[in-house]
Amino acid sequence: MQELTHFIDGEHVKGTSGRFADVYNPATGEVQSSVPLANQAEMQKAVDSAKAAQPGWAATNPQRRARVLMKFVDLLNRDMDKLAVALSKEHGKTVPDAKGDVIRGLEVAEFCIGAPHLLKGEYTDGAGPEIDMYSLRQPVGIAAGITPFNFPAMIPMWKFCPALACGNAFILKPSERDPSVPLMLAELMIEAGLPKGLLNVVNGDKESVDAILDHEDIGAVGFVGSTPIAQYVYSRGTANGKRVQCFGGAKNHMIIMPDADMDQAVDALVGAGYGAAGERCMAVSVAVPVGEDTANRLIEKLAPRVEALKIAPYTDGDDADFGPVVTKEAQQRILGLIDRGVEEGATLAVDGRGFTMQGYENGFFVGGCLFDNVTKDMDIYKTEIFGPVLSTVRAETYEEAIQLALDHEYGNGVAIFTRDGDTARNFVNRINIGMVGVNVPIPVPLAYHTFGGWKKSVFGDLNQHGPDAFKFYTRTKTVTSRWPTGIKEGAEFSIPTM
Ligand code: NAD
Repeated sequence: MQELTHFIDGEHVKGTSGRFADVYNPATGEVQSSVPLANQAEMQKAVDSAKAAQPGWAATNPQRRARVLMKFVDLLNRDMDKLAVALSKEHGKTVPDAKGDVIRGLEVAEFCIGAPHLLKGEYTDGAGPEIDMYSLRQPVGIAAGITPFNFPAMIPMWKFCPALACGNAFILKPSERDPSVPLMLAELMIEAGLPKGLLNVVNGDKESVDAILDHEDIGAVGFVGSTPIAQYVYSRGTANGKRVQCFGGAKNHMIIMPDADMDQAVDALVGAGYGAAGERCMAVSVAVPVGEDTANRLIEKLAPRVEALKIAPYTDGDDADFGPVVTKEAQQRILGLIDRGVEEGATLAVDGRGFTMQGYENGFFVGGCLFDNVTKDMDIYKTEIFGPVLSTVRAETYEEAIQLALDHEYGNGVAIFTRDGDTARNFVNRINIGMVGVNVPIPVPLAYHTFGGWKKSVFGDLNQHGPDAFKFYTRTKTVTSRWPTGIKEGAEFSIPTM
């Protein structure tokens, strides 16, 4: 069995802690490799390497730093197929979807090529007598990223591309479920010309996360994962004086108004609810049809589409709609929640619990499930299922529908399907959720905008990628300078005012 490594100081390094985790092929259920779980001493090696490399990198002019990212983008395109297959083999998503995972990260690398422009400071000429005032954006020093299993290419790149473009060194602690692609990305950055030590990948679990959160030389931490861990990372990191931003779980509603184009809404729900087996933080997991007639029309069209979903291993390429979920544990958790929904009295309009795949009987597959008549007190409504399960909550009016989304504890994404501009506008203005789609089911912002939820989907105050990333990975320094030719007033004891 293959033993994976860490990537420290520009090279692959074997784990020395003696602790390992199994990495599965979710389609077959087999263990395909083992990943080392770092201890504090291994994290210290990564910090030492980052600390030695960072000052030289910060002193390298921003255009030269950006050129490394330019080359990195070329290499990602060159290795796209290889990256996508490695990603699918550990995650379980289809190869076309895995390419999307890489490309959404690549787009952030492209945005970061514009770093020289984004890092320009501000200048006031003549802020006072002979006084000029200007602000600089300087790197935080060493930044770290702790990332989830569901986007093992995109989210690491959302973190390290802007951090490096700003002149930081970066330590990535990827998910222990699918660590191969993050290691491949680090290799590509070296090939692209990044000096060693600036991007270290340290594999691990809670022990390595705590080592990051307690390390006094790490100035900023970006986290993406489930809400309880997001809250924990935020509390411990900020208590240790770090700048921390944590993105958590979600329960994304899609409201279908009576005037919506029903075929379009059904297409949207099938893709956004079941793509990647629902293992996306922006997946639609709650459909809210408004009015009895809308609900009946929706279920009538949706149920046969869910029954017809093509579930297959990643090796089926374009012929699969989605693959298995990531681990046996995830599969059992999802099946348990579906059972719970039935016990709670929801109607299981499509039951995918018995799904098995011929030739892949040990794979972690879950068939597409569709619930109708879900109510807001049910666990399947309150909990993030993170599987191919869509819950339908019937609302009598628009007010009832918007109130559901307003009251839910998560606030990552939401969508409304309607032909009415007034309703859409009212919805956009009133909703307390970070990313909103109007006739768009998964409103993930592009690289030059910023990504982030509200409520329990986020801890911290700046978003990911876009201009916010450049604020997060830099500190502002404001300089007031005077060249006092001819000024002879002597000491001043009162605060100067303009
Ligand atoms: P997770 O919280 O289990 O793990 C995320 C990271 O935290 C991993 O690197 C993991 O090793 C680490 N971790 C796990 N347990 C820990 C502990 N006890 N202490 C310290 N660190 C720990 O999340 P996951 O299952 O990998 O990912 C799925 C979750 O991520 C979902 O809730 C999903 O909604 C969320 N997610 C959110 C966004 C977003 O931008 N809001 C994006 C993608 C995924």
